[in-house]
Amino acid sequence: MGKVQFEAGRKPTAQDLKQAQAGADDRGIIQKVDEVMQKAVTEGATEIHFEPHSDRLVVRIRIKQALKAVDVEIPESMKTNVVNRLKVLSGMDITRTKIPQNGYFKLAVDERKIELYTYVMPSLYGETVIVRVQYKQSATLRIGQLGMSPKVLPTLQKALARGAGLYLVTGPPGSGKRTTVYSAILEVLTPDKLGMAIDPMIKYEIPGMVQSTIDDKSEFTLAEGIRALMKQEPDVAYIGDVIGVDEARAAIQGAFAKRIVLCRMTANDCVNAIQNFLDMGIQPFLVAAAVASIINQRLLRKLCPACRVPYPADADIQKEIGMRLKEGTKFFRARGCNQCENTGYVGVQVLFEVYAPSEELNKLIVAKEPVQKVRQQALQEGMVSLKMDGILKAMHGLVTLEDVLNAL
Ligand SMILES: [Zn+2]
Repeated sequence: MGKVQFEAGRKPTAQDLKQAQAGADDRGIIQKVDEVMQKAVTEGATEIHFEPHSDRLVVRIRIKQALKAVDVEIPESMKTNVVNRLKVLSGMDITRTKIPQNGYFKLAVDERKIELYTYVMPSLYGETVIVRVQYKQSATLRIGQLGMSPKVLPTLQKALARGAGLYLVTGPPGSGKRTTVYSAILEVLTPDKLGMAIDPMIKYEIPGMVQSTIDDKSEFTLAEGIRALMKQEPDVAYIGDVIGVDEARAAIQGAFAKRIVLCRMTANDCVNAIQNFLDMGIQPFLVAAAVASIINQRLLRKLCPACRVPYPADADIQKEIGMRLKEGTKFFRARGCNQCENTGYVGVQVLFEVYAPSEELNKLIVAKEPVQKVRQQALQEGMVSLKMDGILKAMHGLVTLEDVLNAL
């Protein structure tokens, strides 16, 4: 099977399309792509890169943040067909090679269900492809296993036990909000309840929950999806990321209809999330009455316990963090050993701040008091700030102080 290349500027003919399709469907090509997928998934890769060079297609996979070459030979003659195979799988237009495209497909490797998000971009020696691998698995992490400190966890458990209301999981993008939402759902979704979710991405399947996705190709908006979902009268509703006023209103209305409504939101801290609702023009008394709890979080690298190195928290450090610490307090830095592949880190650690509403706090919100005042009151009532949680975790050697301060 010869390679198919379209001349620049020429519109591909039906013949070109047939050839490209035939190349993508060639058994050798299919096997080649399958072989790469198999290797990547077996090794637990999170990304697969197909990078076109002048004489071959280099395949690299990302494992634990680092890229590593895969020993699968893809000669120049197969380059285009391998890319076409990926484009066909992902539902892309193979006749178009000069524009970026993205798509998606599903696979099962050794009974593991996997979703793959594909991104194609034109480059000097042909199209370059990145495939992001999303492993399907059931959500099993319970809230007690998220890494919340004994001072923080009971606040959330108490709030969840309250039942109906709005539960906001906030933080910057990539802070692990979905995982927290899922573990909260596991806490409240009992077999007698109807649970429904809508989200652009399903990270895990939640046992007993009806889960829908929405993407650019969906014929309805997230707000429409949420309205349709609410009409089914779920007891527990997870409505994805609240960005616009439509979703925000739907979330609040759901909470008033005696449902447990969970959503994600990008916000720097818990009180900031309340302000986001007010900025969208939602009445303060509605926000105050709806919110059952707000979580704010950051995702950090976890120090390798086998090789972390303690150092004293001297006066300079205490000045930097603006806190007086007990004599003999230590922080830790990364070193690297054979247990952490010399990186000094293994896995991740999450910092949490959990806001629980009180009568006094609600009064301040309804009176439209400034954010700082609400935050001050919450801290006075015992809310452990993200910074405090981080410093305590740094003192316990779970994370570095630098990572904590950079994350705030
Ligand atoms: Zn180590």
